[in-house]
Amino acid sequence: MKKSIGIDLGTTNSVVAVKKVSTEVLKNAEGEYITPSCVMVKKRLMRKPEFIVGRDALEWIRQEPEHTITAVKRLIGRDFHEKEVQELISKQSLPYQLSTHSRGSANSLALQIGGREFTPEEISAKILAKLKADAEAALGDEVDAAVITVPAYFNDKQKHGTRTAAALAGLKVRRLLPEPTAAAISFGVDKISGDDGRTVLVFDFGGGTLDLSILTISGGRIIEMGKGGDMWLGGEDIDQLLIDYVLEETAKEEGIEDIRALIGQQKPARKNKFLAELKTAVEKAKIALSDQEETCIEILGVLLDQDGDPLDVEVELPRTRFDAMMAPLLKSMLGLVRGVIADVHFTEDLIDNVLLVGGSSRIPCVINSLQEEFGQDKVLLHERPMLAVAEGAAILSHRLADTVECPQCTRNTAQNVTTCSYCGFDLEGHTVEHGVVEIVHAAAHDYYIKLENDQRFLMVEKNTPLPCSSTEVFQLVDAEQELVHMKFYNVVNRKEQGIGDLWLGIDQDEEREKVERGKEEGDEEEKAARKPVVPSRIEITLDIDENNLVSVNATLLNHPDVALSRTLSRGKADEKLFLELEQALSDADKEQYSTYTVIDLQNRARSIIGFINGVIDPKNDTVDEKRYEQARKQIHKAIKIAANEELL
Ligand code: AMP
Repeated sequence: MKKSIGIDLGTTNSVVAVKKVSTEVLKNAEGEYITPSCVMVKKRLMRKPEFIVGRDALEWIRQEPEHTITAVKRLIGRDFHEKEVQELISKQSLPYQLSTHSRGSANSLALQIGGREFTPEEISAKILAKLKADAEAALGDEVDAAVITVPAYFNDKQKHGTRTAAALAGLKVRRLLPEPTAAAISFGVDKISGDDGRTVLVFDFGGGTLDLSILTISGGRIIEMGKGGDMWLGGEDIDQLLIDYVLEETAKEEGIEDIRALIGQQKPARKNKFLAELKTAVEKAKIALSDQEETCIEILGVLLDQDGDPLDVEVELPRTRFDAMMAPLLKSMLGLVRGVIADVHFTEDLIDNVLLVGGSSRIPCVINSLQEEFGQDKVLLHERPMLAVAEGAAILSHRLADTVECPQCTRNTAQNVTTCSYCGFDLEGHTVEHGVVEIVHAAAHDYYIKLENDQRFLMVEKNTPLPCSSTEVFQLVDAEQELVHMKFYNVVNRKEQGIGDLWLGIDQDEEREKVERGKEEGDEEEKAARKPVVPSRIEITLDIDENNLVSVNATLLNHPDVALSRTLSRGKADEKLFLELEQALSDADKEQYSTYTVIDLQNRARSIIGFINGVIDPKNDTVDEKRYEQARKQIHKAIKIAANEELL
């Protein structure tokens, strides 16, 4: 029977679990529970590249860092021009180049590796494909579906990207589950009985992110009250602090004025080897300090000084020094914690438990500062902090599967029946006692629509229970407007993040005809009483499903029969075409083309819009190359015809 698994698709590491009678974390092909979220692109002469994923890929970081990708989760669903992406580039922390995608708009992102370009979704799909294949080998069964966890504050575009990656890996996504909710499920909080309601703060501090969630749980119902955190605060930032410290101390000790310049002067292979060893050594030191009072970071015989002599790095690191280094980070961490509690209008005394998961939650000063904030008894550390999220996902995946294994007779029976069809076991009673009955999801962010005149409207407020639907009617500024461009965005940590655009083509011919007719017909009185042409009104409905995924429907109220586009474009090839078309219309306007030419161009644009809307396959975001080329040709033809008409 096809299996449904739970996947914690982490920034640094990924974990797969399955629930049969009990929950089991699955070992990968290397015999480990944790698979590094690392992909190596191996170039092959005249052939498609080969992908190495996991621990084996990690080994390549030293030898071929420019072909090895870590933390791709930080890039998924992002735009090249986003501040965070630009920061990553300016820090020079990536050994490969990022750019916009040659087939995408400015809102796209591509990784340039070995002369090829990859989207973050394609790289992420390689990780998911390995997790799927290894799970199949471990279970001896086909895996077709999964609950995949995502950070609570992933915006719609990032979730869409995750879903695309899963589709490319051949996985059906049963639910995109916020990581904190998954963690809470694995703590067993869903088993709290009816009257014994509880409010918990899930504190998930992993490799790349800090995820915070406030959940209330009672009678098997988990309600997400609020969420927050920081997508750019995790173990890797702590590693970076340590790297800076080690370099500073070494420079001081050896009397080097600019140690970064010295590293830059090393031959590329030596430099990459040194940086990779430094990264590994500081992470090891950090982990060691979770159990011991001091440690030492050593990298011997790799770095060379100005004279070409070996320069050994040997830096003592007592935990007290580490704690002092962590102070600013702990301060911002507590600021985020207080912020998320205030967001839901709670106070700290209303939090019954703080559930700690994620590798970085093992750090003693992190635990201490939370204990000081909430009281020692309230802070609970998960027994397996790095596996908790996958376990929670597996429990939900099991609940959502079409069939389940009866806990009594172990035969497969339909999920939606109350008693086992083979042995009569009370399945419903068992579920209520032993697991999640229902998760009430809430909107992760505020959802806004921005119109061309930069007017913004709040469509859905953060923490609105999901699924939800919101409808607004907008009046176009220009009665003659044929192409409408709307932008949708989330507000995350008080910053705007674009999640996709929508282009609509409006047939104004009918309206225009009416006006022309009106000019001729009727007596003067009738003409005076006749209303001027009213700009079109558009009704926009934004639907958000349980996974926080958005779909948009648009109806033109003046012409309800006109079919309008409803797919958000997210920086891909379709968006590039839409922008080209928009530019052509704007150029025609700027150049003051004749009314005839503009109308003709608009008419062509309208039919092209419908065509562009079919360029991306909504299931897996792949480009229909033939359609793309046809649309591109149509745009260029329209531009040429307009230019020729002007010359006549
Ligand atoms: P996760 O994303 O939950 O897999 O966590 C990975 C992060 O946890 C990495 O940055 C690890 O360096 C860090 N980590 C794992 N174990 C420990 C530990 N015992 N102490 C401190 N950090 C740890």
